[in-house]
Amino acid sequence: MRIGIYPGSFAPITSGHVDIIERASKLVDKLIVCVSYNVNKPAGLFTLQEKVDMVQKATRHVPNIQVDCHSGLLVDYAIQKDANVIIRGLRSITDFEYELQMSQINKRLQKEIETIFLVTDAQYSFVSSSAIKELVYFDGDIEGLVPKCIEQTIIDKIRGSNDG
Ligand code: ADP
Repeated sequence: MRIGIYPGSFAPITSGHVDIIERASKLVDKLIVCVSYNVNKPAGLFTLQEKVDMVQKATRHVPNIQVDCHSGLLVDYAIQKDANVIIRGLRSITDFEYELQMSQINKRLQKEIETIFLVTDAQYSFVSSSAIKELVYFDGDIEGLVPKCIEQTIIDKIRGSNDG
């Protein structure tokens, strides 16, 4: 059985992430979408539970998926879950530099686990969680950039956090 892990901060999950999830789910028997703690992106606007809930809602239509969360070394988590591959998305050269380094570190830690990169659908190449937050903060339109079912949750959370 081929088990893949798609880790990320998902703060919040975007349409770009969902596109990667849909495509990655066809490459493996089971895909674990793992909301991970990123030390470079500490405590953000959304709680861990809120991020997990949004990922769950946004990926309900994908059959072979499991949503989970984790804090610690990704390769340790992968071994624990019997996963063979880590899936990551690439939007740009900037992503590539970071992702290359991460994949090589992970390979050094655990050589049995491969990282597979899926290139973003061009329509989402400029979409990032931080851009979504900024757009909402300044009343910009995010329609189509995040899954419809969580659009209002994101707007309410960001606008709510600005009150006062
Ligand atoms: P992290 O903090 O782990 O980088 P993110 O939630 O920002 O978490 O991203 C998770 C993964 O999804 C990363 O591999 C990132 O490059 C990828 N990704 C983010 N946005 C997009 C997008 N619009 N299209 C394709 N891949 C994306």
